Amino acid sequence: MTEWIQALRDAVGAEKVLDSPVDLIAYSFDGTFEQVLPDVAVLPKTTEDVAAVVKVAAKYTVPVVPRGMASGLAGGSLPARGGIALSLTRMNRVLEIDRENMTVVVEAGVVTADLEKEVAKVGLFYPPDPSSNRQSTIGGNIACNAGGPRCLKYGVTGDYVLGLTIVLADAKILKTGGKPIKNVVGYDLTSLFVGSEGTLGIFTQALLRLVAAPKFVRTARAEFASLDDAARAVNAVLAAGIVPATLELMDETAIACIEEAMGLGLPLDVEAMLIVETDGSDAEGVVREIEAAARICRESGARQVRVARDEEEREGLWRARRSVSPSLIRQAPNKLGEDITLPRSAIPEAVRRIKAISARYDLPIVVFGHAGDGNLHPNILFDRRDPAQREKVEQIVGEIFQAALDLGGTLSGEHGIGTFKLPFMRQAVGSASLDAQRAIKRALDPQNILNPGKVLPEP
Ligand SMILES: Cc1cc2nc3c(=O)[nH]c(=O)nc-3n(C[C@H](O)[C@H](O)[C@H](O)COP(=O)(O)OP(=O)(O)OC[C@H]3O[C@@H](n4cnc5c(N)ncnc54)[C@H](O)[C@@H]3O)c2cc1C
Repeated sequence: MTEWIQALRDAVGAEKVLDSPVDLIAYSFDGTFEQVLPDVAVLPKTTEDVAAVVKVAAKYTVPVVPRGMASGLAGGSLPARGGIALSLTRMNRVLEIDRENMTVVVEAGVVTADLEKEVAKVGLFYPPDPSSNRQSTIGGNIACNAGGPRCLKYGVTGDYVLGLTIVLADAKILKTGGKPIKNVVGYDLTSLFVGSEGTLGIFTQALLRLVAAPKFVRTARAEFASLDDAARAVNAVLAAGIVPATLELMDETAIACIEEAMGLGLPLDVEAMLIVETDGSDAEGVVREIEAAARICRESGARQVRVARDEEEREGLWRARRSVSPSLIRQAPNKLGEDITLPRSAIPEAVRRIKAISARYDLPIVVFGHAGDGNLHPNILFDRRDPAQREKVEQIVGEIFQAALDLGGTLSGEHGIGTFKLPFMRQAVGSASLDAQRAIKRALDPQNILNPGKVLPEP
């Protein structure tokens, strides 16, 4: 057995170290269609276990790739250069709910939906809601600064991180932040690590901010014959001072896919649908806001607007949006879900350009996303077994990113860079930013053992 693998067994116990081919396959995937085998998978139970793993990795200069539930969509948790797949999923306890200060301390491997459920039991609310909340961990959410439909009103994961316990590349344990909401003592290390995709440190615990759970929620769905009208409605709703919890867009290709898979009776002669949701603690205010949003949608050209009258109708309206991803599977064996962000005003032009790209390459691209945030998810449908289609996908992705950059947007709103977007980083952020980011990486991880080959392209 390789010396460093024996050293790992000695450090954390043989039962936490897996290296049979069957086990390794389980740690070779993420939410994309790529696969890379690690040399070994390690399942720590404590922060000290993680530090012990990193100590061995540092001694033998072996890559350590942290992973949560591996639902990432950018190749971030794939062990690009082999080494150790460090799965945090056994560190999945909610350690403390502080009702007075409205905070929670969790281990990094807690599944997001489990955290939501635990805090809901005491009337508290953890708002960041990646659609993958049942298949992702808080550690992964923090590492990608995950977003979701509710982020328009409530903000992204990073807005809820008050402090972190992090194992650094030299195996030191760093604790950042604390319960005080205001804290400007020195550099903001918590923010530096949020979104670092496992390349600067490994989170083992997080102190998160909570809010009071909204008591009332109302939902509407608006159908638009014209995508431009839908985009105008989004801006008009926000300009009217309404901040919906959610303002989701589906384009005509997304609607067609859902309808084919689910038969929900969705209209096939519209260019776009919006789902608008308002929430809060004042029942009348929430109703007033959804009615105002519905009126603005009609005034902006919506052909039909339905406001759900009860929970069952609300579920019905949401069913379409929730079915987008699963319904795509019926269209093609594989999909690549991109994550561009744009100034909201550029959404119609971005969708038009994506449609033109789709026609030129003759591959379907379905567009949906968080319109209120200007965050679109163009999903390219293809068959990875066909080399010609794979080549086309690479070109399509390049063209979509170029369109986003040309329209004043950028590469990612919530999925991160991983390996998939590396070639576009320089263009997106410029060389001064890349140099500064590389300097941070070198300072914190001089041997480049933490998730090497991710986020920052080779100089
Ligand atoms: C169907 C579907 C829907 C999705 N919807 C959304 C959405 O609405 N919004 C959104 O933002 N994302 C979404 N995603 C993407 C994905 O779920 C998120 O990026 C999520 O945050 C990843 O969490 P994870 O635990 O699966 O992390 P992984 O995929 O395991 O890892 C992701 C990255 O985080 C790093 N990492 C993981 N754990 C740690 C840790 N403890 N310390 C340091 N680094 C760590 C990894 O090295 C990797 O770089 C979706 C994915 C799928 C498959």
